[in-house]
Amino acid sequence: MEEKEKKKWLWVGKIAKKTLARAIDLVHEDMPVLELAEKLEDYIRNYAAPAFPVNISVNHVAAHYSPGVNDSSVIPAKSIVKVDVGVHKEGYIADAAISIALTSEYEDLLKASFEALVNAEKTLKAGVKTGFVGAVIEETILSYGFKPIKNLTGHKISRFNLHAGKSIPNTKTIFSSKVEEDEVYAVEPFATDGAGYVVELSEGYIYRLTSARRTGDKQVDRYLRDMWRRFKTLPFSERWVARFIGEEKAKIVLSTLLKKKIVTVYPVLVEKKGGLVSQFEDTVIITEKNALITTGISELVKEIL
Ligand code: MN
Ligand code: MN
Repeated sequence: MEEKEKKKWLWVGKIAKKTLARAIDLVHEDMPVLELAEKLEDYIRNYAAPAFPVNISVNHVAAHYSPGVNDSSVIPAKSIVKVDVGVHKEGYIADAAISIALTSEYEDLLKASFEALVNAEKTLKAGVKTGFVGAVIEETILSYGFKPIKNLTGHKISRFNLHAGKSIPNTKTIFSSKVEEDEVYAVEPFATDGAGYVVELSEGYIYRLTSARRTGDKQVDRYLRDMWRRFKTLPFSERWVARFIGEEKAKIVLSTLLKKKIVTVYPVLVEKKGGLVSQFEDTVIITEKNALITTGISELVKEIL
């Protein structure tokens, strides 16, 4: 990878890490989830752009919860709060997450997914099989007496593409591919005391444009062009659409685009048995010798574990 390009991946990584450090300072019992998400997204905007809406997934919610326009939820007492942030500049993306527990009783559950991440990072380098990395993650989490979440995976990242094909499983899998030099991956082990997989809720607040088609409705198409310009192929929040066209119109436009399959929505993912879920995530660049970590959440984890 060219030095110039590497610098860009590393730079967005640094912003993601700073944003998570900010999250550690901000998260407290009874805080409105909407306020937390918007503060973190505004923080990112000081430097770059959010690559996706800040995800704040509490307890048995594993992923893809980001507050909608009128979210009234607050951070519950004694909860596990997973804060997952994305930063991009010119399409170079950093994707990173930490779990913050508002009680010490979940320390082992947090350690299970954090240590799984550290061990996975130690094994990653050009030529390694993704299934092997999954086995390392699985063994680490099992050694703590928890289960990895089988149907959530790490993923390759490319410019403007958060899920660029290859996955890094959280379990030992039969189907496996090789990671290659200069590829960028998000590695994200999830640990749970539940069933070990997630199911979709019918609700969702995170959207993505999937088709370049027009609707034929002049006004909707004007907004659609604007959305392509702002979000491109990256996920966005209904809150962000509401910011530039207003809440009422945002609802109508998004539901029209959903019906026409021009946008897709990510359902909220919850643990099947209602188990508690912890997650830690870094973005890494694969080199010949190792994985170069762009987001470096290990340093933050010292404060919370
Ligand atoms: Mn993430
Ligand atoms: Mn990710």
